[in-house]
Formats: sequence, C-alpha cells, structure tokens
Amino acid sequence: MFTQDQPRLRNWINGQFVDVVASGSDQPVKTIPVTSPYNARVIGHVPLSTATDVADAVAAAQAAFPAWSSRTIKDRAAILIKFHSLLTKHVDQLADIVVLEHGKNKAEAIASVLKGQETVEYALSLPQVVQGKMLEVSRGITCYDTRVPLGVIASVVPFNFPVMVPMWTLPIAIAMGNTMVLKPSEKVPFTMTKIVELLKEAGLPDGVVNLVHGTADAVNALIDHEDVKAVTFVGTSHIAEMVSQRCHKLNKRVLALGGAKNHMISAPDRNIEMTSTDVVNSYSGCSGQRCMAATVLLTIGHQQELVDKIVAKSEALRPGSTAGAVGPVIDQASVDKITRYINEAEASGARILVDGRPWTKNQSEGFWVGPTVILHTNKQDAALHDEIFGPVLSILAVDTAEEALAIENANPYGNAACIYTSSGAIADHFTKRFSAGMCGVNIGVAVPREPFSFGGWNKSRFGNHCDITGDGGVEFFSMRRKVTTKWVAQENASWMS
Ligand code: NAD
Repeated sequence: MFTQDQPRLRNWINGQFVDVVASGSDQPVKTIPVTSPYNARVIGHVPLSTATDVADAVAAAQAAFPAWSSRTIKDRAAILIKFHSLLTKHVDQLADIVVLEHGKNKAEAIASVLKGQETVEYALSLPQVVQGKMLEVSRGITCYDTRVPLGVIASVVPFNFPVMVPMWTLPIAIAMGNTMVLKPSEKVPFTMTKIVELLKEAGLPDGVVNLVHGTADAVNALIDHEDVKAVTFVGTSHIAEMVSQRCHKLNKRVLALGGAKNHMISAPDRNIEMTSTDVVNSYSGCSGQRCMAATVLLTIGHQQELVDKIVAKSEALRPGSTAGAVGPVIDQASVDKITRYINEAEASGARILVDGRPWTKNQSEGFWVGPTVILHTNKQDAALHDEIFGPVLSILAVDTAEEALAIENANPYGNAACIYTSSGAIADHFTKRFSAGMCGVNIGVAVPREPFSFGGWNKSRFGNHCDITGDGGVEFFSMRRKVTTKWVAQENASWMS
C-alpha cells in the first residue's frame, strides 16, 4: 500500500523517525492521503497520531528540557548558526518539496524558505538582545530580571507556508531554552520532515524538537497534556478561537493566529502603474493563499484606468510552477469554496471582470482556479467579507475616504491593510485609522521584517496578546524572574583593609 513514491510519514521523536502506533492491536493506523496540488497525484500518506504518540513526543521534549534549558543562550544560538547555514545549503531542495506538496511556484517557494531564515537570524541575535534590567531600587537593594524558559511548547501550523510559519516559532522558542513538539499541517507534512533532519545535523540534541503528524485529535492531545506549558497555533479563525478557549480553560499560555480579510484603499492620487502591479501581486501571489494577501480593493471614486490595468495584468497571468506563474490551490475543497464565492457574487449582480473558473475544468490535472477580478455593486456580497483564500480580488468603488475606512474598520479581522497614495499626509491619515496590526503604504503584502514582529489584531489573533515573532516571541516564549538582592557589608572583616 505504501510505496516509495507514496510513503507513509513517520513522527520524529527523540531524534529519530518512529512509526505512529495504532490505537488498538487489532486496529490499523489511520492515515490520510497527501496530494500534490499540481496534478492531484497521491504523494504520501500522513498518519493520524493518537494521544499515545503525542505522549511519547511530549515525554521526549520534557526529558530534553533540563539539559537544554541549562545551556547558555550563546550555546543554543551557536547550534542555530549551523542550522541557518544548512537551510541556506538546502534551500533549493526544500523549495522543491514546498512546490511538490503545496503548489507554490518555485520562486515563491524559495522566497518562503528565505523568509523563514529571517526569524532564524533574529533568534541568532537573541544573546545580544535579551539581557534583563538591573537597577538599585532602594539604597543597598538591587533588582535584576532574567528570562526563564517555559518548558515544552506545542506549535500547530497551517498548510500555506510549510517552512516559514514553523520558523515563526521554532527558532525563538528553542533559543530561549524551551523544547518543542510541532504538528505540521496534514496537507504539507514533508517539508518539516526534512527540516528536523537538518536540525539534528546542526547538532541539536535529541528531543529538543519533535514532530507529530495528525489533525484535531493530535492537537487536542497536545493542548491537554499536562507537560505542555504553552501552545502556539496558526490557522483559520474558527479553530484558532477553539484552541485558545481550550487552553484558557487549562490556564495555559496560548497564542493563536487566525484568518484574515485584508483591504487595500486606492486614493485618487495613487500611481496607477505601480498600484495596479502591486494589487495584482497581492491578491494572486501564492495563489491568494496568504494570510497577508489583500483581496478587497476600495477605490475612492470610480478609477476606471486603474481597474483596466488590474484586469489586463490579471489576464496576462498563466498557470504553472515557474516564477510569475500562478500555481494551483491546495485541494478540491478549496477549488469548490472559491468557485462558490464567485458564483454567488455573479448571481447577486457583480461583474466578473476576469474569470478564473475556466482553469478549474480539468481537475484530474490538479486543483486550479485562475486569477479572478470581481466588480461589486452590492456591499453585502459574501466575497467582500469572508476569507476566500484563493486568487480572487473584490473591487468596490466608494465615495469618500471615510466610507472606505468605515468598511475596513467594520471587518472583524485585523491582520493587514494598505493605502495607495502619493501623499505622505494621506498615508499617515489612513495608517493611523486602519483597524489592522500590519499596515502598508503602497505595499499590498505588508509583512514586517524582523526585528519588527509579526501579528494581527481582532479575529486574526486569539489568546495572549503579543506578536508571534520578534520581541513578541521573546515575551511569549519566556517568563521573567525578578530577583531582589541586599548584601550586608562586612567592613569590619580583617581581610577588608
Ligand atoms: P486550518 O485551521 O484548517 O488548520 C491549521 C492547523 O490546525 C492544522 O495543523 C490542522 O491540522 C489543525 N486542525 C484542524 N482542525 C482542527 C481542530 N478541530 N482542532 C485543532 N486543530 C485543528 O488552517 P489551514 O487551512 O491549514 O490554513 C489556512 C488558514 O491559516 C487561513 O485562514 C489563513 O489566513 C490562516 N493563516 C493565518 C496566519 C496569520 O498569521 N494570522 C498565517 C498563516 C495562515
């Protein structure tokens, strides 16, 4: 059943691959197929870990914690320096795995690995940036603080960035002295399987990072395990909220990033050429499967020339895996969801200026939906409000800046928003009023680079309200220990003078 072309994946526990155990001796291990979005071909089978598998992984992480946490942060960072150079050495191979299992084009896949490298680089700098404070707070009494790791961290990640999103948590968490059990997305389990081998090659002690495959049961077993001290989650808002609530009931530290619906506002003074290119990149890059993709364009007034250019540039896009091409979306359920939103908008009177539905025709050759541009007249269209997670742009003309801001502010998410303008004062007006954690000025995918931390607001983030990378990550992955000292002088001791 499991061939070389279609292997069954294994968990990574205590520095080695281990088979998932069946829930009973007469039961087979449950698996689900992993398909390549490019051609719908089955490329592997991901096993569904049970609470027993999760307990084994947590036990390995717990056993590794005392030795790992008592190393100096410089020691831990030194291993990450080797890991960084191994990631660089293997970037092409890792990108090929991302292309195969996820469907990004090769250039996007390489960029996603390099983006993951940025958080590794930030983690390398931690010995220089995480010193505590020290102050004589009263005469003869001094306070200082240190950062103490939490213990075993569970990190649950989504499908859309198989390397980059795990790298938001893993490097900072382990540099701070924690150990980890990571659950990759069941849709893209291969890339992290390669990465754990690179961590071992870099010299990471066994048990510091472990992988368990699976879905909801594995996640719940991780959350509920008493030795798991904190949970990070990235995925859809509905599940992020559930994960956050489950952790809160157990009084566990949790940071759960959710979905998004990001808005772009085009002021009448924007540069048309630059704006049209940037808008198309934002909504169609990575096939629209980015939590930072902006998919609603609000034009202040009718901006026909801009819309015409967006249409022309969208129509020029072609399917494929080379740089600039639009890759497939993750699976058939995603194709169905995206086309449903397009159909519903059309039925409610919207004009489909660019129609990606013809790309769906030959599903035996993968999960394709082409770039789609919808011109709305009905503000209630679901495509304007829900996260679609595909290459679909919704355009709506509004009369004023205030109307545009009111629409953006009313959306329940809060990841990103962007203003296109040639005026600094107008940019300032919008960035101060957007209801989003990451704002762009003439940049439709405004991902902050380290040391600026990544994180949205509102329904794009649940749980502890810090960002996931940068100093937000340092805060999340450590506790502060405050020490207050008083020393009695021994001035009369004979050896003092
Ligand atoms: P998803 O919510 O379906 O899955 C995310 C993870 O949760 C996976 O590992 C999955 O196995 C696990 N999971 C599935 N069902 C579960 C359940 N009932 N209980 C506990 N865990 C469960 O998300 P996805 O489709 O893999 O990823 C796309 C989503 O992630 C989009 O909504 C996107 O916006 C979001 N995302 C957000 C950010 C951000 O920074 N806010 C970044 C990347 C992706």
